[in-house]
Amino acid sequence: MIQRAVALMLIQGLLLISCASIVHALESQKPSTQRLTTESNRPKISRSVSLMTTRVDFILFGTHPATANAAIDQAIAEFHRIEALMSEWQPGSEVSRINQQAGQHPVAISPELFRLLQAAQRVSILSHGAFDISFRSAGKLWDFRQATVPTQEHIQRATRHIDYQRLTLTPEQGHHAPTAFITHPKTSIGLGAIAKGYAIDRAAQIFRQAGFDAFAINAGGDLYVAGNAQDRLWNVGIQHPRAPERLLASLPSNNLAIATSGDYERFFIHDGQRFSHIINPHTGYPANGCQSVTIIATRAFWADALATAVFVLGPNEGMALVETLDGVEALVVDQSGAVTLSRGFEQSSGYQTTE
Ligand code: ADP
Ligand code: MG
Repeated sequence: MIQRAVALMLIQGLLLISCASIVHALESQKPSTQRLTTESNRPKISRSVSLMTTRVDFILFGTHPATANAAIDQAIAEFHRIEALMSEWQPGSEVSRINQQAGQHPVAISPELFRLLQAAQRVSILSHGAFDISFRSAGKLWDFRQATVPTQEHIQRATRHIDYQRLTLTPEQGHHAPTAFITHPKTSIGLGAIAKGYAIDRAAQIFRQAGFDAFAINAGGDLYVAGNAQDRLWNVGIQHPRAPERLLASLPSNNLAIATSGDYERFFIHDGQRFSHIINPHTGYPANGCQSVTIIATRAFWADALATAVFVLGPNEGMALVETLDGVEALVVDQSGAVTLSRGFEQSSGYQTTE
């Protein structure tokens, strides 16, 4: 887990978040019409906090700073609640209990976790196992701080225990809570590729319920933007994976989630080869087909998981999957640095490359 440093700068009326290691910059863009909405005078309330080992920026526009601050407090509490429920590192979490009982007993879980595990299974099926929350047996062999490559034998042995079909989910029945059961003792799960996105969605819901329609939540480059920033649409800049000061594209966005998986956040180089934190469940080795994958969708959990799935699938298969999904667009940078856009991304009127 790494701590990502992000600098929030207000430059000539543009709101820009930049960071050496993340992919998105947020700024605001002049609307095509000159109509000024009353929103232009609404104050901005923002806060940055470290949550889920990531810097999270909350930005709200509204006329009641006290209400905005209360909503941000609630969103922060929600991140903590989700982490306590879904972290594979906290021994008391529901996910840890499922892991502890692997090969032994089904575990009663909350309907909320049940739904997210079902969503994870859906992404596994869609991606033919490229996305697999049971990546963990091989995933934990890779220590990005030690920067060592595990032996091939260890990796092969661990990879045999990656199989999302070993997670059995049983829906709630009458008064019985839903359950999750890992059928093999050597298999375990981790929600690192989907839980943060889910927390972003929950925070967005909290802001809407509190009456806000213009806000942004940026969790280390995975983000959700809603409404207009001041009198302008949010503009999300997608940074180049190898040159963070360069924007690959910028996209005016409203009520959208955007998530990126890259090989430049947590990685090490060994004998000239780059090893990053996204594991190909079929080999046990870090996936190496892409430098970065950015997914645009209406929900952040979906964008988060699909970014990881497409990263593992690589540019061709990954983009083919994206084209089958309604309301999902992608920008993929392959290992050579070549950029591919999904059809809808290419056609979206606001899209512009910045090169
Ligand atoms: P980040 O959390 O850095 O934004 P991702 O959303 O791409 O990145 O998720 C990467 C995390 O997902 C890894 O740190 C690990 O916890 C988990 N993971 C790694 N490989 C896979 C995989 N093939 N399927 C599902 N989860 C994975
Ligand atoms: Mg992801």
